Amino acid sequence: MRPAAAEPTRPHVLLSVAMSVDGYIDDASPERLRLSDAADFDRVDQVRADSDAILVGAETLRRDNPRLLVDGAERRAARIAAGKPEFPLKVTVTASGDLAAGLRFWHHGGAKLVYTTEAGAARLGDALSGLAEIVSLGTELDFGRLLDDLGRRGVARLMVEGGTRVHTTFLAGDLADELHLAVAPLLVGDPAAPRFLDAASYPGAPHRRMRLAGIAQAGDVAVLRYLPKPQAVAERDIRFMQRAIELARLCPPSETAFSVGAVIVADGAEIATGYSRETDAKVHAEESALDKLGAHDPRLARATIYTTLEPCSRRGTATRLPCTDRILRAGIGRVVLAWREPATFVTNCVGVEKLRQHGVEVVELPELADEAMSMNRHLDLS
Ligand SMILES: [Zn+2]
Repeated sequence: MRPAAAEPTRPHVLLSVAMSVDGYIDDASPERLRLSDAADFDRVDQVRADSDAILVGAETLRRDNPRLLVDGAERRAARIAAGKPEFPLKVTVTASGDLAAGLRFWHHGGAKLVYTTEAGAARLGDALSGLAEIVSLGTELDFGRLLDDLGRRGVARLMVEGGTRVHTTFLAGDLADELHLAVAPLLVGDPAAPRFLDAASYPGAPHRRMRLAGIAQAGDVAVLRYLPKPQAVAERDIRFMQRAIELARLCPPSETAFSVGAVIVADGAEIATGYSRETDAKVHAEESALDKLGAHDPRLARATIYTTLEPCSRRGTATRLPCTDRILRAGIGRVVLAWREPATFVTNCVGVEKLRQHGVEVVELPELADEAMSMNRHLDLS
């Protein structure tokens, strides 16, 4: 039998929404209600800059007529420096094909893509020729196929900015990996106004609990970061992460680098440990642990590496391989981490995304994030 063609790797799907305390994303007036303040818009701009593609539904385009750009010039410059297009790919979804060529969406930023149905494609005809690529998903909008297609195009990180129907479809289909819920301190109270989500049969509802992976404040807006898909947290993972946190406390102090601990475990036992600056001033925790094992140690293939911080995807020292690449080269298939790389020293760390793209299982333990970063509080972690 011929092996089946490799399944495309679907992108990491991040739903982003701002809502009022009573769950509305707008009021019912024609003018767009401002829920976020400047600090929160700036936060969203960074999330956009960190994404390969941004998706909004056609209803949102018709209703709000957004441009969907990365506004920060320095963020666009950082994308270009990282070898990416200046702007993320802009994606929209329409079943009906009811999209006017005059919408601002088409006339700003980089490449645009429209997912639609056969009927929608027929209705659109060549109305958007020269403005966007049109892709038919068949007789109906199949979001799984949409994600497969984006994966084939190399999109590793997709940000979804609404509206209601699009967010509902991703969550009802269990297709969302991450949710950023920004709660603005105001009430709308108008039953005609649109809500964040429609009623739907959500997987496991109402008993399945999402994992709360982080809480942040942007101006007067509370930003909650949830991981909607269930991830079983094994007691063993907690135990080895606590061991990695102990190691992080051993790091020689630094004003310019994080203190990180790492443990490599195979067959239920610790086979190597490392921490930042353990063997020289530049060595990273994961690197130090891996250096203690032979490159062809057969245990690596069934090992898990525990690290208090997301493995780096870029390094200041050009002669040294980023830890993400070291882990991939070692053939380790599972990574457990406690906190994601903040933008303090490296902007746009994509360690987790890159590991997942290469089929590595990545488990986050946000419940240990505070403890894991406690020895780094003297650094600017903004
Ligand atoms: Zn590293």
